[in-house]
Amino acid sequence: MKQTIAVICGGRSGEHEVSLTSAQSIVNALDRSRFNVLTIGIDRRGAWWLGPEVIEKLRKGQQPYGRRVYFLPDPTCPGLVEENIAGGQQPIPIDVFFPVLHGPNGEDGTIQGLFETANVPYVGCGVLASACGMDKAIMKALFAQSGLRQLPYLVVLRSRWESARDQVIGDVESRLGYPCFVKPANMGSSVGISKAANRAELVAAFDDAVRYDRKLVVEKGINVREIEVSVLGNDEVAASVPGEIVPAHEFYDYDAKYAAADSRLLIPAPLAADDVATFQEMAIRAFRAVDGSGLSRVDFLFDKDSGEVYINEINTLPGFTSISMYPKLWEATGIPYEELLSRIVDLGLARHREKQ
Ligand code: ADP
Ligand code: MG
Ligand code: MG
Repeated sequence: MKQTIAVICGGRSGEHEVSLTSAQSIVNALDRSRFNVLTIGIDRRGAWWLGPEVIEKLRKGQQPYGRRVYFLPDPTCPGLVEENIAGGQQPIPIDVFFPVLHGPNGEDGTIQGLFETANVPYVGCGVLASACGMDKAIMKALFAQSGLRQLPYLVVLRSRWESARDQVIGDVESRLGYPCFVKPANMGSSVGISKAANRAELVAAFDDAVRYDRKLVVEKGINVREIEVSVLGNDEVAASVPGEIVPAHEFYDYDAKYAAADSRLLIPAPLAADDVATFQEMAIRAFRAVDGSGLSRVDFLFDKDSGEVYINEINTLPGFTSISMYPKLWEATGIPYEELLSRIVDLGLARHREKQ
């Protein structure tokens, strides 16, 4: 019997577009001899739409995006119902959900919580890991707890920035200095992130970042190589070969990630064998620090001047187009894209079984 898998994409997040691109690749590559594949698009208002063309329609803003559906949290038949259920439509049962949502309202444990309440299997990290991986302040606290080396940082609430700006500037200048990076705590894809080289830029960076979140992280800026490792597993965790990003811009900002064609991925990263082992060991430790399951990509800042390795972040739902770093690293490690998808789904199903 084929399993019905529902790929969910779009969403109420600054990373809506990126999610559509990842989902399109996944839908195209899922093994049709094993799965009956449904695509659910969440529009920018949060409404769910079902249909084979939903990704294309969301991208073009063509309403209606498909058939309007609602999540059905029925423990005996979790799935979807259509708007017009009074008209006699049957619920559509789903065997496993595959959230391909980046950023808030998808990568952060919220939709995972919805699946948990319905006791339906889903792919990827659970509620706790997703929430901790989305919040850079909490993530950093857990990394520190696990003895992972990080750059010096400060956590600043928007309310404090608004009420005690001079004190915040003083703290940043005395504890971190310039350049530093100002980041919304709960975001991704470099949205709202700026590098500040002086006080005027710091003020501008704060004023921009507070538009995205009530909590910010400010971090000492260094001259870096950016190394990333893909992680796969539940209790038993494997790490891929490391890869390197050579950004087209001064840092790996939103445009460099998605618009500029000339950011390059070096796979595998040109590294000494000792360094490879360090990155892999740290990646697995970071995954365990947030209690990850299924998949994650762990990103590092490799100090060009000192050679020191710092952990930067974990992404529990990394970019997943066929040319994204996460699947590319597995391909280089020996797991092709289609097989990787099957394994990730299996990990989600296995975690679900273990909880029963
Ligand atoms: P996101 O979750 O949005 O990807 P990151 O923390 O990874 O946020 O920051 C985005 C990019 O900014 C990184 O890929 C890197 O290019 C740059 N960056 C972030 N922090 C630092 C830092 N402390 N020093 C140097 N570059 C940094
Ligand atoms: Mg991130
Ligand atoms: Mg990043």
